[in-house]
Amino acid sequence: MRGTSLNFSKAKRLGKLPPYLFAELDRRKRKLKEKGIDLIDLGVGDPDVPTPSPIVARLVEAAKDSCNYRYPSYEGLLSFREEVSRWYLRRFGVSLEPEKEVVTLIGSKEGIAHVSLGLLDAGDLALIPEPGYPVYQAGAVFAGAEPFYMSLKEDNGFLPCLQDIPSHVASRAKLMWLNYPNNPTGASVEIDFFQEVVEFAYNFNIIICHDLAYSELSYDDYRAPSFLQVDGAKEIGVEFHSLSKSFCMTGWRIGYAVGSKDLLDALKEVKTNVDSGVFQAIQEAGIEALRLQENLIPEIREIYRKRRDFFVQGLRDLGWETSLPRATFYLWIKVPGGYSSFDFTQILLERCGIVVTPGVGFGPSGEGYIRVALTVDEKRLKEALDRLEELKLE
Ligand SMILES: *Cc1c(COP(=O)(O)O)cnc(C)c1O
Repeated sequence: MRGTSLNFSKAKRLGKLPPYLFAELDRRKRKLKEKGIDLIDLGVGDPDVPTPSPIVARLVEAAKDSCNYRYPSYEGLLSFREEVSRWYLRRFGVSLEPEKEVVTLIGSKEGIAHVSLGLLDAGDLALIPEPGYPVYQAGAVFAGAEPFYMSLKEDNGFLPCLQDIPSHVASRAKLMWLNYPNNPTGASVEIDFFQEVVEFAYNFNIIICHDLAYSELSYDDYRAPSFLQVDGAKEIGVEFHSLSKSFCMTGWRIGYAVGSKDLLDALKEVKTNVDSGVFQAIQEAGIEALRLQENLIPEIREIYRKRRDFFVQGLRDLGWETSLPRATFYLWIKVPGGYSSFDFTQILLERCGIVVTPGVGFGPSGEGYIRVALTVDEKRLKEALDRLEELKLE
């Protein structure tokens, strides 16, 4: 007899991902919103600042050009990749061959997830920082590989301790993920850390994937280095970039990967089988962004710097312990009063109407911290501080 429902189970690989800790929080957030509570959302790393108008203008023009209506090329417009390589030379002094050493991505998240499918097999080991951006882990797990977590601790400046990776693990590892300036901790590095990483990678024959999504969001005199600035790095590594954070373009979905031709070939092979590239009009707008980068970025940087200075000072005046990050738009804040990061997040939500992210959602070493994203304006940050002042913790 014909049944009335389908008897199926989801693929087992989905069950291998850790439980999504933000789901319960999302549910409570929605409930409060429905009740009409005025929530201040410092939870998501999604800029409120509009995309600079020259970029939008270029999209509008390019959207009228019927040349752009057909399938784009898989690896991206050559003109976009040439613009990437020009910017890399200006900014980092690194020269890249646009045909072979640059690939356009549908946002860097897409490439970050797919590169593991091109490079990792079942049984391979991937070194993954925690707390960290969850996609490194998801990519490895979907590829059937085994993650080994490198914990990022405050006493080591939120850098992985390479010496602490057991040598039997290092010998088995095929790939390592890094991300500086770092989400969620706001930590940043100098080039000597990358030199150490390259040394380690050659010793143990490990591919390095570096996520440089926050390269341009740095303050004061600090400018984030590229991993590829180290001698020998380009032979063993790939660097992932996003236009999302630098140019407030999260919804546009454009990023790129640069580095070793052979490693990028593995990524391209996956991509030709699962996607058909980025709408060319968006790549045209991306060219405009990269071309005008030095003119557009200072203003965006200044917005976040002011928010950072204002909010950190305000928190310190309230007696909270927080450092002043020199990059990213995140504050990684120690939870006061011995609460767990999840409980404290609930308290802020229920009693102050403030949404933050519990550190533990990024990995077990994030316990004891919350992440605040400075993606609302100073007026709302002031309101948040006023509400926090009223919060009495027993
Ligand atoms: C936001 C973010 C990304 C994703 O950027 P898209 O280009 O929008 O996909 C990648 N890595 C980190 C660490 C991020 O915070």
